[in-house]
Amino acid sequence: MSNVRQQTAPMPYKHHSYFANARREQRYLLPFVCFSCRKVFRKPFAREARLCPQCRGLLTMLNRKFSAPKATDLRQWRKVALLVEHGFVFHSVYRSTPDGRHTRAAYPKNLAEVPAFAAEFASQAIAKPLGAAVAGTSKLVRWQMPGVA
Ligand SMILES: [Zn+2]
Repeated sequence: MSNVRQQTAPMPYKHHSYFANARREQRYLLPFVCFSCRKVFRKPFAREARLCPQCRGLLTMLNRKFSAPKATDLRQWRKVALLVEHGFVFHSVYRSTPDGRHTRAAYPKNLAEVPAFAAEFASQAIAKPLGAAVAGTSKLVRWQMPGVA
């Protein structure tokens, strides 16, 4: 009887510091995307190339602010791929205001907005998406997206 009671009892209160380690680890998990499978794998930061566990293709590491479209939303995935090709990995970009301040600019909502966005923020693009370089070379990988090219 005492076992049943333990199972149904509410979780005892735990001080937030109890979860500190788990939280710290989570903070360092970054989205690694596979543009072929249109999937995201959350893994710790890595300088070396990571491969997709499903298709063995190269994963691209994006900023933690990235949130993935549905796997079936091909146009949104094409938008993401195009942004990454232009060096925008969902890091924050800023627009100058006339009074000399900076405000964070929103990323494009759709594919059609990408060219203007890429042109406006070209100076804030990163030279090469992390994780996109083939190990041992400085070549930027061209992503292949079956069915949406
Ligand atoms: Zn894959």
